[in-house]
Amino acid sequence: MIANACEMSAKARDGRYAVAQININNLEWTKAVLETAEELKSPIILGVSKSAAKYMAGFSTVAAMVRAMDAELDISVPVALHLDHGTYEDALACVKTGFTSIMFDGSRLSIEENLEKTKELVKIAREKGLSLEAEVGSIGGVEDGIVGMGEIANPEHCALMAALGIDLLAAGIGNIHGIYPKDWKGLDFDALAKIHEAAGAVPLVLHGGTGIPEEMIKKAISLGVSKINVNTECQLSFAAATRGYIEKGLDQTNKGYDPRKLLVPGAKAIKATIKEKIQLFGSECKA
Ligand SMILES: [Zn+2]
Repeated sequence: MIANACEMSAKARDGRYAVAQININNLEWTKAVLETAEELKSPIILGVSKSAAKYMAGFSTVAAMVRAMDAELDISVPVALHLDHGTYEDALACVKTGFTSIMFDGSRLSIEENLEKTKELVKIAREKGLSLEAEVGSIGGVEDGIVGMGEIANPEHCALMAALGIDLLAAGIGNIHGIYPKDWKGLDFDALAKIHEAAGAVPLVLHGGTGIPEEMIKKAISLGVSKINVNTECQLSFAAATRGYIEKGLDQTNKGYDPRKLLVPGAKAIKATIKEKIQLFGSECKA
């Protein structure tokens, strides 16, 4: 059931669990996420970055595929179709093409400009019945081959952002995208507690969910994190399973080169990873 992320995030905040955002990359990915969420009776958020949308032939193609698949598979759990790290222009494009949730990432702008643009998008989101996630303090990660350590968001900026009426707030607490470096210092829980206090009732989002130790995930949820983004971990499990299939030579027997066979182990691996995350985040049976 296609929905925005407002209600599922508020319920997660009140119930002290987190909803997973799983980024999708193609049809197999989307099907794996929808089927796993349905199986576990969990709400779910499908994350789509601009580059993933471009790969899948545009935002409107993605929206049409997700909506049709949701109907064909008779998915009963709430599914939000969410723009991940969008610019202002991406956000407007997704509003038009049938996304139900938008993340506007204005973290590279000045805080004044970030607030101004977010305010405009909150108004549009309210009119259209969409959920809006905003970001304060950029999330680190690999950029041009250099791993950033992850910025800590300023709680005062978080309070200003929360006051705009956003539905979700992504704030840097030392988390980064991609694989965490060996010398990573971990999440900054003092910062998270301050941000949680500053943001009031606004559910918080933890980006870069791949490779954060379980106990840190649980502690983050206890401190107000209600949505956790996972992308790289599914990519790694898909790649490992696909490599295993080919290394065993299975693509060379029994018409194993057929994509309907070749891509199955990867899809199964994605499903196993998502199941693990839903259970860890506590959203099973919360649909
Ligand atoms: Zn992110």
